[in-house]
Amino acid sequence: MNELFVAARALVGGEERRELAFLVENGRFAKIGDAKSMTIEAARDGTKTRRFPEDRLLVPGFINGHSHAYQVLLRGWADDWSFDKWRSDALYRVVPQLSPEDVYWVFVFAFSEMLAAGITSVVEFFYLNGAGNAHAEAAIRAARDTGIRLLFARTWMDASYAPAAYRESIEVARSRSEELLQSYPEINFCVAPHSLHAASPAMIEAAAAFAAEHDCMLHVHVAEAAYEGAATLSEHGATPIRLLDRLGALNERCVAVHAIYIDAEEQALIAERGARVIHNPMTNQYLGDGICDISGLRALGVPIGLGTDADVKPSAIDEMRAASLLQKIARTDGAAFGARAAFDLATAGGARALRLDAGRFEEGAFADFVVLDARAIDPWAPAVNALVYRGEDAWVQGTFVGGTRVAGREPSAAAVAARERLRAIADRLVP
Ligand SMILES: [Zn+2]
Repeated sequence: MNELFVAARALVGGEERRELAFLVENGRFAKIGDAKSMTIEAARDGTKTRRFPEDRLLVPGFINGHSHAYQVLLRGWADDWSFDKWRSDALYRVVPQLSPEDVYWVFVFAFSEMLAAGITSVVEFFYLNGAGNAHAEAAIRAARDTGIRLLFARTWMDASYAPAAYRESIEVARSRSEELLQSYPEINFCVAPHSLHAASPAMIEAAAAFAAEHDCMLHVHVAEAAYEGAATLSEHGATPIRLLDRLGALNERCVAVHAIYIDAEEQALIAERGARVIHNPMTNQYLGDGICDISGLRALGVPIGLGTDADVKPSAIDEMRAASLLQKIARTDGAAFGARAAFDLATAGGARALRLDAGRFEEGAFADFVVLDARAIDPWAPAVNALVYRGEDAWVQGTFVGGTRVAGREPSAAAVAARERLRAIADRLVP
């Protein structure tokens, strides 16, 4: 069914547009134009029309390029630990115990938080695969029930140190991935060899071949910590990005998550190969990882997106702000990375990095958008600056995916139920 939306104020490519109208057809923007002529047309055709007044600002739905939803269970009690302790005593202890039913509720909870923060698309980097596809299917069901657009990055992991609930052989990972790919054509399936330390070189090569064969994206954690570079150099004679390249995994399908500890030559190699980067500035601070040089990568033309990664607080607004502020501090230069560039990472640029047809008001793109309360935006401030430096998730009044409203100001019944379920899950699993 067609529906016309008319926005008194909207952000198009970071620029404020007045009286913007867009017609949604089959979940996509079918036509975009000025309010006056399109309203007349809609009235003539009897098309349902919805208008958002002056005190609302419409922006494209935010793109979350990297998330591990089940890490919401680690929030609070495992804060402020070293990365090693956090991984071994929290992540590897709690998550492997989740049943498919637990996974469903954890994902409903996390996806509801994201939608309430204006996130309309999420890449779930999912690694509870060792026991089969039941856990993955529960997560996919949660996305469908909450209405978020899911990009399912299914992890492949074969390191002996990984919990059995994560680990698979190459053969098993491949056949289970094929099964999901065939059963769920709507999920934008991606293959995700976990990292250079948790997936063997043979597994990464096989994943790259899988991505090429099925024309899907390949997500991989890379250079999140300094030790990884030292380890790959001594074991394989190459630093992480060079090693990915050698394994045939660094190409236009590759989404390098983190890419913090890389040198200038590796930055250039990423650009040359057409690979992409997902930056997780809030989690990188939370875990004490380091700062990705997105200014340098952006100057080379590398497509970059943002991720909420550990989901301590899944907020695209926080990630945008952190992305900008961290560059300013890393370069001790207030002009290093502006609000408009940060907004691009969370919208059109992020979508481009993921090869997703969203993140922008453009004919043909998915009709994913967010209605923000604009009353706190100073009349003398560009809206994009206000959003990045002063914005709050509480500004989100409504979140639309494919032209359908999937979240509003009040938490949904499912979100409320999920919170109760999580209390019970935490009682059982959190030490
Ligand atoms: Zn991650």
